[in-house]
Amino acid sequence: MTESPPRAWAEIDRSALHHNLQLARRHSGEEVMAVIKGGAYGHGLVEIAKELDKQNLPFLGVANTGEARCLSKEGIKTRPYILGATLQSEREEIAACGWTPCLCSFEEMEHFNLLGKDSPIEAHLALDTGMGRGGFLPHQLGEALEKLSKASGIKLTGVGSHLPVADEDPVFTRKQFELFDSMVESIPGRNEKFHIHLSNSAGLLDYQSRTTNLARPGLLLYGISPLPKYQKALKPVMALKSRISMINHLPKGHGVSYGRTILKRDTKAAILGLGYGDGYPRSLSGKEVSVLINNSPCPLLGRVTMDQIIVDVTELEICCPGDEAELFGPNLLVSDLSKKAETIPWEILTQITPRVTRFYR
Ligand SMILES: *Cc1c(COP(=O)(O)O)cnc(C)c1O
Repeated sequence: MTESPPRAWAEIDRSALHHNLQLARRHSGEEVMAVIKGGAYGHGLVEIAKELDKQNLPFLGVANTGEARCLSKEGIKTRPYILGATLQSEREEIAACGWTPCLCSFEEMEHFNLLGKDSPIEAHLALDTGMGRGGFLPHQLGEALEKLSKASGIKLTGVGSHLPVADEDPVFTRKQFELFDSMVESIPGRNEKFHIHLSNSAGLLDYQSRTTNLARPGLLLYGISPLPKYQKALKPVMALKSRISMINHLPKGHGVSYGRTILKRDTKAAILGLGYGDGYPRSLSGKEVSVLINNSPCPLLGRVTMDQIIVDVTELEICCPGDEAELFGPNLLVSDLSKKAETIPWEILTQITPRVTRFYR
């Protein structure tokens, strides 16, 4: 017996990932910490990590110890970097496994110093230059450096900060780059190997720093630009797809889906085997959204249900059960869909559920 194929799947294009990584390197002229938190933005943590592991990157950016452990268990050689503050209960494992934390508070610094008394822990210093999500404020930097100089359990190998509005507010972001650069310049004993990083995708694309030598792109590696003017240079990595299960000829005045959206004309309605249970946002219900079938846009009809959606294929001359539909991908940007769903592409990508089989090519 052969297994039947899934109704909804995601095609992940490895060559597009490499194209985007190359662009990140060339455009920034810096080393890249590939951010693969959130299961590599829904693309599959381990598969994407394996692909990037061949790329000689200094770090893979993960959210927590669970993600770091997945990488270590799979034999990924590139060091996991834990983005953000750590819980006390996570630090023993971080120290033992050689993952790189960023020190976000005096408490974290003191604890890691204790854990590293026999064998020093390589860590970065986190600066809060505007994100408000941990890290040392400008007036705390002197004291932090003072404490670090006496902390024999910690080997400081880098410094970083994060941008809250790089895709929204250039005035604030330019000031933030200046603040970060001047804070970094006051850190003594920086050598060439010392990693200095500030930029996410938008920062990498649109800003310049005097001090940084490492960028932390996430979204752009997956081929989506947070700033539309750079979209053309990127290649979307994921295509979300499904198939027509059946086609209904429904009369004007008939309802479709929960809530009974009333048809305004006689309609050829195709049912697709995917819904919010796969991560296709329910908030797209009633919005002007289309899916692509045989390269033609077919408007969504009625509400998105858990496992199925209905689309209008009246205008399509040829279409039949089994035909493929692209929900988003290279031909229909997830960033356009996210606007209509009143959310951001990061959320849509990470919410594609495990029921959606990922195929890598
Ligand atoms: C998620 C994250 C990034 C990547 O952000 P993108 O906008 O997806 O490029 C970079 N740095 C930190 C600290 C993050 O949490």
